[in-house]
Amino acid sequence: MTGKKLNILVITALLSLLGVVVMQVYWVRNAVQLKEEQFNRSVGIAMKTVLNRILELNTDEALRQIARNEPCMDEKTDISDVISPRLLDSLIRMEFKCLKVTRGFEYAIYNKVNNRFAMGSFATFRQEILDSEYQQSVEALFKPGSYYFSIYFPQKRSGVFMQLLGWMLLSAAFLLAMAASFWLTIRTVYLQKKWSEMKTDFMNNMTHEFKTPISTIAVAAEMLMKQEVNADSSRIRKYAGVILSEKNRLQNQVEQVLQSAMLEKGDINLRFRETDMNRLILQIADSFQFRVLEAKGSLQLSLAENPPLMQLDRHHFANVLANLIDNAIKYSREAPVIALQTKVTPEAFILEVSDKGIGISKENQKLVFKNLFRVHTGNLHNVKGFGIGLFYVKRIVEMHGGRIDLESEVGQGTVFRLFLPRHFTLKTKAEYENN
Ligand code: ADP
Repeated sequence: MTGKKLNILVITALLSLLGVVVMQVYWVRNAVQLKEEQFNRSVGIAMKTVLNRILELNTDEALRQIARNEPCMDEKTDISDVISPRLLDSLIRMEFKCLKVTRGFEYAIYNKVNNRFAMGSFATFRQEILDSEYQQSVEALFKPGSYYFSIYFPQKRSGVFMQLLGWMLLSAAFLLAMAASFWLTIRTVYLQKKWSEMKTDFMNNMTHEFKTPISTIAVAAEMLMKQEVNADSSRIRKYAGVILSEKNRLQNQVEQVLQSAMLEKGDINLRFRETDMNRLILQIADSFQFRVLEAKGSLQLSLAENPPLMQLDRHHFANVLANLIDNAIKYSREAPVIALQTKVTPEAFILEVSDKGIGISKENQKLVFKNLFRVHTGNLHNVKGFGIGLFYVKRIVEMHGGRIDLESEVGQGTVFRLFLPRHFTLKTKAEYENN
């Protein structure tokens, strides 16, 4: 998939995800509104029912008085003559019980003319009762004074909210799961793309690297076929030498690629032997001195005195060190200034390879140990390599029970620090792969 197509796909998926989130929020808001409207209607009906019940009771009483031919003795001059506070309270609680609202409300009957409270159950929310949206006139029961029956629910919003909380949490969980799987999918696609680009780079690089020695060998062989060269033994030796050294170069490259493939599969067997570290390090450093001097640089050694013998695979550990020094030379813009230092602690043997080269940016520091990864080095793109050196180094160090750290500042230089435990038990192949 091309980068453009992938970007379009990501943007479309992101927009769809955003759309789903917006729709969900809209539906949740709608549901809250609907619940609120339903609650408001029920409260209105309950209040009317309470007032109707009281009205019925008063009418019944008046009818009874008429039937008994009793004179209408008690003139209804006050609201409390028609509404008994206790009756009102029990009727309200009964109605609200049916609505499943058993707590969290205050109510009152008050006079709208002077805002005087006649009866009710109120303590904290007097003003809120006066301003409440749930108001019913009681003029059917008692005319003078414009009395109103009002209720206030301090926890109305949270009540409605709590009723819908389960659904909201469920939909949030689904959204989160969707977003997480979307993110994982996109990440996998990007990683796959990066991996395929790295592979293509590697293939191009490898073909290029292999072509050079092959064409040199071809030219040398052609020369050897010529009559005049054949007659001159010094020229034969010269061209045979060229062929041999190019063959060695080719062999080294093929070995590198093969080893990285074997490491990837975990197919490398190490041969641990007691090793004199100083001797091994000096040997490898010596083999680089000529190259460093030729580049007008320096390779300084500061080795711990009498280091303990370490259990190592000498061949692979020598390759590790050679890779680090080779990189320090390759990735120095000017004359390479390289320092090799060792320290011994009770737990570990520590080896540092530092340079004052181009350095590695923070984001690439995490990636350089990955197989086939190469930093795009701008004007240093002529630096040759397959991107397998540090992968090999890390794997081999880990197979020795150790680890490798890296400290680097772009333009300042890099320090690779190897920690090799002085005592460790060898892991089985399965244990190593599970790690
Ligand atoms: P390569 O064959 O490209 O050198 P490596 O695995 O050895 O592969 O290194 C991976 C990448 O890490 C290199 O391409 C380079 O960009 C970066 N790198 C490694 N060592 C150094 C160093 N000493 N200084 C700066 N960059 C380095």
